[in-house]
Amino acid sequence: MTDRREELAKHLDQVRAEIATAARAAHRQPEEISLVVVTKNFPATDVEHLIALGVSDVGENREQEGSSKSSEVRSSINWHFIGQLQRNKVKSVIEWANVIHSVDRIELAEEIVKRAVGRSQILRVLVQVSLDSAPGRAGAPRSELNEIASLLATSPMVELSGLMAVAPLDEDPRAAFHRLQAIRADFISDFPEAVWCSAGMSGDFAAAIEFGATHVRIGSSILGSRPTFG
Ligand SMILES: *Cc1c(COP(=O)(O)O)cnc(C)c1O
Repeated sequence: MTDRREELAKHLDQVRAEIATAARAAHRQPEEISLVVVTKNFPATDVEHLIALGVSDVGENREQEGSSKSSEVRSSINWHFIGQLQRNKVKSVIEWANVIHSVDRIELAEEIVKRAVGRSQILRVLVQVSLDSAPGRAGAPRSELNEIASLLATSPMVELSGLMAVAPLDEDPRAAFHRLQAIRADFISDFPEAVWCSAGMSGDFAAAIEFGATHVRIGSSILGSRPTFG
């Protein structure tokens, strides 16, 4: 094994063990929680290492980076788009991503439904809800979730999979994810199939698991601190 692969293997083992511990503490099964490894700012070679180590799901937050990286990776894995999405990027994102976590506006839902026509593969989509009281950050207000979700559900090529959220920085993540749990309970009563809950990053995934996360998005705990370009 290369040094880099060994390093990733070690971090991956640690994170998997911590996910299992958090799951058991919440009286859940570790298998209920899927790990999406966030590979943004890291090269395709790291994705190859991760695949060799059993990773099947990776997350990217920029269209161009995800597009070129996914074209360099041969194995078929699930590519998750987790970043802020612009309407004019939808067409290209759905060429490489199988899952979009971050739909937070009606106009994005409309564009996805329009562009999903003629696809050969189902596109999984999550609606991103804001857990912030201040407006302006990513995520739809709770009051708009149903309209966005209903629109997505009109497309036979889109599978409305659930909700995604990011905990605000200025608050105990447990309080934020506790709110998410309540929002999700309401959401599932309207959309019973939409049971995914994408929540939790390196710093707060144990809290997210405590409050029902089914998909954790973890970058730096596995890949290290992100190199910046420019
Ligand atoms: C970067 C990113 C993550 C991963 O963050 P880490 O703290 O590195 O684990 C998760 N979710 C989103 C939306 C991100 O942009």
